This record gives sequence, C-alpha cells and structure tokens, in this order.
Amino acid sequence: MRIQGLQKLTLLDYPEHTACTVFTAGCNFRCPFCHNASLVVDIPKESEISEEEFFAFLQKRIGILDGVCVSGGEPLLQPDIELFIRKIKDMGFAVKLDTNGSFPEKLIHLVEQGLVDYVAMDIKNCLESYAITAGVEVVDVEAIKKSVSYLKEGHVPYEFRTTVVKNYHFEESFELIGQWLEGAEKYFLQNFVDSGDLIGKKVQGCSEENMKEFLKVVQKYIPNADLRGM
Ligand code: SF4
Repeated sequence: MRIQGLQKLTLLDYPEHTACTVFTAGCNFRCPFCHNASLVVDIPKESEISEEEFFAFLQKRIGILDGVCVSGGEPLLQPDIELFIRKIKDMGFAVKLDTNGSFPEKLIHLVEQGLVDYVAMDIKNCLESYAITAGVEVVDVEAIKKSVSYLKEGHVPYEFRTTVVKNYHFEESFELIGQWLEGAEKYFLQNFVDSGDLIGKKVQGCSEENMKEFLKVVQKYIPNADLRGM
C-alpha cells in the first residue's frame, strides 16, 4: 500500500461516524480541480506513511473512532487494497471507500466480500464530458456506468457526488447527469474550492445562485439530491 496521508480525525467525511481518513497515492485521472494534486502528480516521497505506522495509529484508536475513510488518489489502484481493508475491518472499524468508479470489478468484489460499509463515488460530469473533466484523453465510460448501476442496485449504502466547476459544468450537464443517475439514493453537489494544491490552473467554482439552479435541475430526477458544504 502506498499511503500518502492521514487525517487523524474527521467528523464530516464519513456520515454518522467518527473517523480518520487515509489517503492512498496515485490516480488514473487528472481532474484539473483535484484538490489533492500531491497525491496524484509529483508525489513527495518524504510524506509517505508506512503501513506499520498507520496500523499502530489505528490500534490506539480502537474504541475512540468507529470508522476509516479510505480515500486518495484512487484507492482501487492499489494492488493490495483488499488485504489492507480486511486488516482495518478485522480491527472492528467500519470502512468508507472513496472512488472515481473506474474499477467496477474491484468495487463489486470488495462489497461482496463485506469489506466496505459505505461508498462515495465521484460523478465527474455527464458521460459526454467525462474525459475532459477527468483531465485525460480517454475514459472507459462503460466502467463508470457499471459502477453506477451496481451501486444503484443497493448492495451497500452509497452516495454519488460531483465537485462543481464553472469551467466544466452547465445546466445541460446536470440535465444529463440527472437522467443518468435517476433513482439514486443520495447525490451531492459540492462547489469547487481552491485548496492551493490543484492539478490544473484557472479553475473556478460557481456562484451560489448557479449551484441552486443546478440542484433544481437534478432534483427533477433525484428528489433527495442536495448541496454540500454551502
Ligand atoms: S479528483 Fe480526480 S485526479 Fe484527484 S484523486 Fe479524485 S479522481 Fe483522481
């Protein structure tokens, strides 16, 4: 496992859980608005955390935390992700997995093994604009669609979420996303905020007014959809 960061306490990342977040290194996407560029490109060797160090920390949090968010980067790129999550589960923690949905077979396998308790999947954009929004030439949209369909079947609690960026998202984008995700349990729109650790340049968030308009559009298809962080 390439562990590149650890947030020792979060009350926000894992709904209804007191958790920590572990960040894995590397991603197959290059979203210009990625707020963790140092987990994706030019990954600094010196901030790597060993598995021993992570599990020693977790051991001390038994009875204090009840969940672990496994985030990235893209965690499902790690070849030993199953073993890593199994160890966390064996210590009694619930696991939330953050994923960009590119690896449906791995996602399905982990869920079917009972290793994941909650999945947060990024929806970068409508399928027509997926690659440009993910900052790559080609995206296997069939894989993304498969992850979405699997989660919508309700095998595990989940949410979909979109980081909304003025440069890439328009009313029509949300019309198409709404049609695609129709029937989803939870879908959150979160406005882009510059973390200072971005992959791209000149990326901008949207106005509050635009965010509310976009929400109205998706709520036609997903009545529970909501804004997050506003
Ligand atoms: S925001 Fe994009 S580039 Fe950054 S970790 Fe997520 S999927 Fe990868």
